[in-house]
Amino acid sequence: MSAPLIIVGAGHAGGRAALTLREEGYDGRLILIGDEPHVPYERPPLSKALLQGSLDLAGCSLCDSARLAELGIEHIAGNAVSRLVPQHQQLQLADGRWLDYAGVVLATGGRARRLPQAQANVLYLRTHDEALALRATLRAGTRLVVVGGGFIGLEVAATARGLGCVVTVLEAGPRLAGRVLPPIISEALLKVHREQGVDVRLNVAVECIHADSVQLVDGQTLPCDLVVVGIGMQPNVELAAAAGLEVGQGIRVDEYLRTSAANIYAAGDVCEFRLGGVYQRQETWRNAEAQGRHAALNLLGRALPFDAVPGFWSDQYDWGLQTVGVMTPRMLSRALPQGGVLLFYLDADGYLQGACGWAPGNSVAKDIKLCERLILARVALSTADLADPAVSLKHWLRG
Ligand code: FAD
Ligand code: NAP
Repeated sequence: MSAPLIIVGAGHAGGRAALTLREEGYDGRLILIGDEPHVPYERPPLSKALLQGSLDLAGCSLCDSARLAELGIEHIAGNAVSRLVPQHQQLQLADGRWLDYAGVVLATGGRARRLPQAQANVLYLRTHDEALALRATLRAGTRLVVVGGGFIGLEVAATARGLGCVVTVLEAGPRLAGRVLPPIISEALLKVHREQGVDVRLNVAVECIHADSVQLVDGQTLPCDLVVVGIGMQPNVELAAAAGLEVGQGIRVDEYLRTSAANIYAAGDVCEFRLGGVYQRQETWRNAEAQGRHAALNLLGRALPFDAVPGFWSDQYDWGLQTVGVMTPRMLSRALPQGGVLLFYLDADGYLQGACGWAPGNSVAKDIKLCERLILARVALSTADLADPAVSLKHWLRG
């Protein structure tokens, strides 16, 4: 009997890889190994509907365990892969078992970056179980301090306000989500959070966290019941690094998502790949979905270069943010009739490379889909028309 294909990490990318292998007709032995006790699930609801209480684990799962069994996917849950030996095509589980493999997808994702000292009363948010622990503490009147004004911080703040908590957000940098979003959108986020009653403080540094307060470097003390820290993600690269695979800020792959070891691919948050000539990781739902699927196809011998258009979204209060493509220095903006803004990013020749929209509800989704089609179609665009909300984006696609 030939050795199995093994997916390491039963999160979104890993789950998608396993399901794709079966959808694409692979009928050999297939093992999905995850250190969490759950079936693969999507994380976006953890800071939104699940935290708010309107969705449970089943509502975020890629499939249930009955479906995994039906597909013949052996799911080893609550057990980490502790060692990978590419020279022998073998890996070892935390419980000591060794498994041979014919091919592997590494989809080990990441973990919440911790503050340097262990602190009482501090919660992080990466997993379903962490989301449940946080949900149990959020009640009307809970005084919550959120450290980090990135996506976790802002989405938790929005959900907590919806639950009636008293919320302060502490961001170290000069603007919200400053590393991934343009200044116009950071400003819009700041405005909506302040309008919703969140005390957002920029350029602040935390000195220490006590059981009932947060002390800032400038000497101020913020009394609180609970602290949530969202200061970024640390990719789980240790297994790959110890196995001698090439690792930078993530597990390095080539254009086919192949790592530096034979028959081992990487996908999702942990995967460092070239985009626009630069090595980077994408920490997004869309990337986990696309790369999980893509790694599976290439594991089956398709040899397809990975060139999916990146993108992500965030929902805060009744506003939606969506991006597609890449942000370039040449930006144009269009005010949206329903409120909010749509930003276009062009290359030097005037072709659309990316777009970013912020608008009420889900109303910007249609425009972002059209922008994706314009990026792929490489149509020459008139900058005056792009800035004019009266000109439909469909106009160029019809042409
Ligand atoms: P993960 O989902 O982290 O899965 C990796 C899995 O591998 C984990 O279960 C991990 O425990 C396991 N693992 C690690 N090491 C081992 C090992 N050695 N052995 C076995 N198992 C192992 N993106 C968006 O685009 N929009 C959003 O609105 C959005 N909201 C988000 C909200 C939250 C709260 C979070 C945390 C993320 C959000 N994201 C969002 C990002 C998106 O969820 C991630 O990009 C996506 O989950 C990455 O999937 P992954 O499979 O690569 O990694
Ligand atoms: P993040 O988006 O990287 O944001 C972290 C923020 O915290 C940054 O603004 C960072 O500022 C700030 N920061 C860092 N150290 C700090 C400190 N000591 N005190 C105060 N602020 C500090 O990371 P995240 O919000 O923790 O999210 C973690 C992961 O979940 C990411 O992969 C993210 O993409 C994903 N996620 C995505 C979404 C979405 O796409 N909608 C939603 C939730 C989570 P600097 O940049 O200046 O360091």
